[in-house]
Amino acid sequence: MTRPIRIAITGPCGSIGYSILFRIASGDLFGHQQPIELRLLARNTPESQSRLKGTMMELADCAFPLLAEMSAHTDEKELFDGAECVFLIGAQPRKDGMDRSDLLRANGEIFRRQGRALNERASRDVRVLVVGNPCNTNAYIAMRNAPDLKRESFSALMRLDQNRAMARVAEKLEAPVSGIEQVFVWGNHSNTMYPDIRFLRYKGHRLADQFDPQWQEEFIKNVATRGGQIIKARGASSAASAASAALDHMRDWILGSQGKCCTMAVPSDGSYGIPEGLVFGFPCLCPGEARYQIISNMPMTQEVRRRLEITRDELINEARAVADLLP
Ligand code: NDP
Repeated sequence: MTRPIRIAITGPCGSIGYSILFRIASGDLFGHQQPIELRLLARNTPESQSRLKGTMMELADCAFPLLAEMSAHTDEKELFDGAECVFLIGAQPRKDGMDRSDLLRANGEIFRRQGRALNERASRDVRVLVVGNPCNTNAYIAMRNAPDLKRESFSALMRLDQNRAMARVAEKLEAPVSGIEQVFVWGNHSNTMYPDIRFLRYKGHRLADQFDPQWQEEFIKNVATRGGQIIKARGASSAASAASAALDHMRDWILGSQGKCCTMAVPSDGSYGIPEGLVFGFPCLCPGEARYQIISNMPMTQEVRRRLEITRDELINEARAVADLLP
């Protein structure tokens, strides 16, 4: 039998975690031939432990043939021991009176600790996806605190923003989303992100200049504020769609994106004037074997450059605000 892949997940009982667990265990991540092992983190409180116990009882009751083993952990070093694939979803939610910088610091502490634990115990070929917000900077903090791991092992989730952009384009074209390609999102997973449809293809054909500038402006705003719209309508933040995007991201990264362009927030290699190491949303191609390449030759205009600078500067400021959490 094929050896199970060791997957570690933080925040497994939160809304996103609860949605992703069952999909991973059913084979949606690595396919229906690949057994997996799940290592799950519970905080050291009776409520957390009990929630995780109940969730694991449900996982067991699904009798998933691919779920070879699962274990609960409170210690992050134990959690990450030998982990090959890691979803960092758990994060402190923004509380009343907290601004973005308070959240940055509160969560920064978590990701510093987790970066160090990954550095010590994870597989040297681990692939880490940070979902917990502010995800780009959390990934940056974890990466910087894991100097013995490859920088390219770390990424943050912006695939949800790409999926949202593709869905809005499909609605506008009144066409199925399956034919839509070459939509991607630059920058920070925040209101400054820049969804780019200049190279949009539908069923292989370029659809340049199909959209009037006013629609494009609304589209950019709409994608950037979609999370807030969902909270307003649903009374809770995006969960199943975030879980689904996290699966898309990790599956494409590890198994390959089949020649399709996909958005990943990854450490910059200096392309497009983004400082090296900053975790920035780029258009990427994944050739398989857990690798990605930033597409570094996308044509730029003055306007696109201006938008990239805004989101870049926001990330630079976030990195400055957590400078004391970096070694
Ligand atoms: P929930 O509030 O439902 O769950 C949060 C999880 O984080 C819980 O499992 C909780 O653990 C854990 N947690 C809370 N505080 C801490 C802490 N101090 N240390 C460690 N773990 C903690 O949140 P969601 O599942 O809805 O969202 C998770 C994260 O994903 C959030 O940061 C959210 O903003 C982000 N997100 C990112 C998106 C993206 O596209 N990048 C999209 C949508 C959300 P416990 O069970 O012990 O309480």
